[in-house]
Amino acid sequence: MKIRSIVASCEDLQLIRPYTIAYKTVTAVENVVVKVELENGIIGLGTANPSKYVVGSDTADTLRALQPELLAPFQGKDIREFYSLLQQVHQLFRQEAGAAAALDIALHDAFTCWLGVPLVSFLGQAAAGLPTSITIGIRNVVDTLAEAREYIDRGFRIIKVKLGHSAEDDVERLVKLREAFGDAIVIRVDANQGYTANELLKFYRKTLSLSLELIEQPMPANAIEEMKQLPPEIKKLVAADESLVSPANAFQLADGPAACGIYNIKLMKCGGIQPAREIATIARHAGIELMWGCNDESIVSISAALHAALASPATRYLDLDGSFDLARDIVSGGFTVKDGYMSLTGQPGLGVRVL
Ligand SMILES: [Mg+2]
Repeated sequence: MKIRSIVASCEDLQLIRPYTIAYKTVTAVENVVVKVELENGIIGLGTANPSKYVVGSDTADTLRALQPELLAPFQGKDIREFYSLLQQVHQLFRQEAGAAAALDIALHDAFTCWLGVPLVSFLGQAAAGLPTSITIGIRNVVDTLAEAREYIDRGFRIIKVKLGHSAEDDVERLVKLREAFGDAIVIRVDANQGYTANELLKFYRKTLSLSLELIEQPMPANAIEEMKQLPPEIKKLVAADESLVSPANAFQLADGPAACGIYNIKLMKCGGIQPAREIATIARHAGIELMWGCNDESIVSISAALHAALASPATRYLDLDGSFDLARDIVSGGFTVKDGYMSLTGQPGLGVRVL
């Protein structure tokens, strides 16, 4: 079955509410869309919204990278040579995580739609579904409690709180959250590189009684050696996000004394499903747990991450709330969310329907 065409475009998906994290405030969202059409009319979709701060390119760079003359050689190729096509994509776009991710996802969707099976079944399903966290940005105590209440009322039980402006304010917000909602919620936090090693030790001691589930990227992305020196009980709770972009980073973080107990995989960092699964394999054999995260992304690439997550035996945590606050999307379906629990639809490919 030949590929008839591959086209890339950009879609403005907008955002219901702006939010703030340690290094930026986000007010609008664009995603690059890649459409792979097979000769029989089957369409595979991929989307991308990489973070310039983390991988060095944004959606504008991604669209520029997906030049028609670079996509043209894929036209006429047989989708049954799936792994060979993926190899070419990751060779061609190894410096452009967004472009690689959108193409990698679209090829996975097209191929498994052509096979007529859900992507997760093709990859090997390891879990039926998992609960996701939902994120509260950096806000004051009153607004944090109000937003948490809204999410709890919507059925979510895992709240991820963004930290990083001041360690004192961070601790106060978390104490108030625990006081207000008790054991009804699981609290995980993300400092987005905001702490030094000493600040992290202090933060850990002050929040010990709050039973935080995990601490995402407390220290700078390149502070790998410092992370390796942390006490084991802290490292166990640390999830590497900005420190973990590629499979090579996964090796570096696992080597010697491991730098953390959890890897946060994002398709937008590593360049799609294939490299994500390479990271997942390294994690599994190094005894590191997996969290699957995202940027502000269409249901298309959030679904792709969920398929990959549920096909990885080391997966323990989902943070796939990236499409919940979009004002519009290019597809529906992909997954269902009931009381914060995400599962797939059983439809072929990614299981999305074009709107
Ligand atoms: Mg993070």
